[in-house]
Amino acid sequence: MWEAPYLVTYGVATDKKANATMERDIDESRQRMIDQQLKLRGITNYRVLDAMDRVPREEFVPLEHRDKAYDDCALPIAERQTISQPYTVAFMCQALHLKGTERVLEIGTGSGYGAAVLSLLAKDVYTIERIAELSTHAAETLKRLGYDNVMCGLGDGSHGWPEQAPFDAIVATASSPVLPEPYKEQLTDGGRIVIPIGATREHQAMMRFTLHNGEWTIEDLGYFVFVPLIGSYGWSGDPHT
Ligand code: SAH
Repeated sequence: MWEAPYLVTYGVATDKKANATMERDIDESRQRMIDQQLKLRGITNYRVLDAMDRVPREEFVPLEHRDKAYDDCALPIAERQTISQPYTVAFMCQALHLKGTERVLEIGTGSGYGAAVLSLLAKDVYTIERIAELSTHAAETLKRLGYDNVMCGLGDGSHGWPEQAPFDAIVATASSPVLPEPYKEQLTDGGRIVIPIGATREHQAMMRFTLHNGEWTIEDLGYFVFVPLIGSYGWSGDPHT
């Protein structure tokens, strides 16, 4: 069935006075996000809180949603995808236990926001997206804002990114019916994979797989909702067609 394309506009307002007011509102909203959405719900890792405080989320959301950039929800971006809720981004980053020396793979670049936050927590971030328009736009935003340790790739990230492996941490921001087999092979010993997994597209548990001395530890970190990981090792077909 044909559906009208979803129109998304990015950009910044040019009126100086309006901009100054907007900047102040944004700073306050970001602080509220840190205090009420993150700290109160158990995000305690100060590096994660600091990264969430430093990344301008409003730059990654479409212009028409800019006033909602720090709201407690996911927001639509282009191609019927979403930028994850701030709490979800912080939760996944905290679950990865990053120290700053790691090579991280993110599956599902989307807006590029998650990659920007990760880039402040790790040494290098490789992020892969299956939709060309999103990948191109995210790469431009990340470059414009100076996140130089983020490498953007286009393709089916359910295969991981074999050319850039191994990784010390892998995070999938789209949900899969099972843990894609290639992720296990692309992880260094001592590394962690955080990924939402569910038998249906609607019910997902955030899972953490930790590899230590060749042994896997598997933990269920709770219930979340994500868009599906579409690919060879994820869900087949696009749900919108
Ligand atoms: N991290 C993003 C969240 C994006 S939502 C952000 O901060 O904005 C998840 C993204 O995963 C969507 O953009 C979707 O297109 C992408 N995706 C789904 N299946 C994929 C696959 N097999 N490979 C790469 N990206 C995929």
